[in-house]
Amino acid sequence: MKPFDYLAPADAAEAVRSVAANPDAVFLGGGTNLVDHLKLGVAEPGLVVGLAGLLPSGIEELDDGALRIGAGVSNSDLAADPRVRERFPVLSQALLSGASGQLRNMATVGGNPLQRTRCVYFQDVTTPCNKREPGSGCSAIGGWTRHHAVLGTSEHCIAVHPSDMAVAMAALDARVRTLGPAGERAIPFVELHRLPGDAPERDTALEHGELITAIDLPAQPIARRSAYRKVRDRASYAFALVSVAAAIEVEGGVIRDARIAFGGVAHVPWRARRAEEALRGAPASDGSYRAAADAELTDARPAEGLDGGNAFKIPLLRRTLTATLRDLAGEDPR
Ligand SMILES: Cc1cc2nc3c(=O)[nH]c(=O)nc-3n(C[C@H](O)[C@H](O)[C@H](O)COP(=O)(O)OP(=O)(O)OC[C@H]3O[C@@H](n4cnc5c(N)ncnc54)[C@H](O)[C@@H]3O)c2cc1C
Ligand code: SF4
Repeated sequence: MKPFDYLAPADAAEAVRSVAANPDAVFLGGGTNLVDHLKLGVAEPGLVVGLAGLLPSGIEELDDGALRIGAGVSNSDLAADPRVRERFPVLSQALLSGASGQLRNMATVGGNPLQRTRCVYFQDVTTPCNKREPGSGCSAIGGWTRHHAVLGTSEHCIAVHPSDMAVAMAALDARVRTLGPAGERAIPFVELHRLPGDAPERDTALEHGELITAIDLPAQPIARRSAYRKVRDRASYAFALVSVAAAIEVEGGVIRDARIAFGGVAHVPWRARRAEEALRGAPASDGSYRAAADAELTDARPAEGLDGGNAFKIPLLRRTLTATLRDLAGEDPR
């Protein structure tokens, strides 16, 4: 591991100043992703700025019914919060489907959406990777692609975003609150992550030195009837091959409204607006759910690969969305 300096700042403002002033500096949240990258040589910062104790670590109820989740809240505490379990079950389920109890105890709400791709080539410093080393090439294209993207890919990168929590946040219209060198701002969660395009080294819309301080979850009655379904190679301790975050409102056998996001299929948590549009006003039936999946997957482009490629993700996602919506539509949320 390359040696680095460590700073424990007095407050969030000092943390931002320290990272913003140094292109070679990074924030350290719970460390469950960054420390692995330090050990692997994927990240080689000159300065690591610790966030322990600097960020809000509570969940606040706002006047408009929204929940403000401090960036220092652990993934375990967020999943267990009774308000989250009751009003946003999809979020609690997404968190509990990720990592392990010990990791969730350490992982923070600020660090979780900024965890980096699990693409094996990104994590192997002996192989070319445009995300790790811009311009070096993409080893996944024509390589092992089972875990890679089918939506929003580019000729420079076909990696997927790994966070389960982020998929639920994308479906729930969350907003990310930040403190950066230019002050505070709020970013719609669906605009936090970016598609790879010709700059896959940039995962998000955040500036260097911009700190996530909280995530706001707006009040949404629809989210009480919501769920997260994750399909993976093992029953636990594995990342999603595909996942679905869904919330649905059904009246008299007709879908009035829906919120859908997909995980494991794109460089971003993929908000499925075409699927939502197809569902509104449709009968609550498997035919409608399959049609919604097809509407969203029209532009899907699977990758061939040494391992047989990832075309299987398209029917798998269609079935996963159908099963999730069927369960939700049949369930009485009260
Ligand atoms: C074995 C294993 C299995 C896992 N399985 C899953 C899984 O199934 N699903 C899943 O979703 N996740 C999984 N994870 C990933 C885990 O959820 C993430 O590592 C964790 O959420 C990251 O949070 P952290 O606070 O530890 O971030 P860190 O590792 O501290 O930081 C991650 C990144 O975010 C930056 N950062 C941290 N906090 C902030 C902030 N407040 N503002 C701005 N930048 C910040 C850091 O600089 C770094 O770049 C797994 C991890 C491991 C090791
Ligand atoms: S898919 Fe992206 S992260 Fe993976 S090797 Fe290619 S450029 Fe790197």
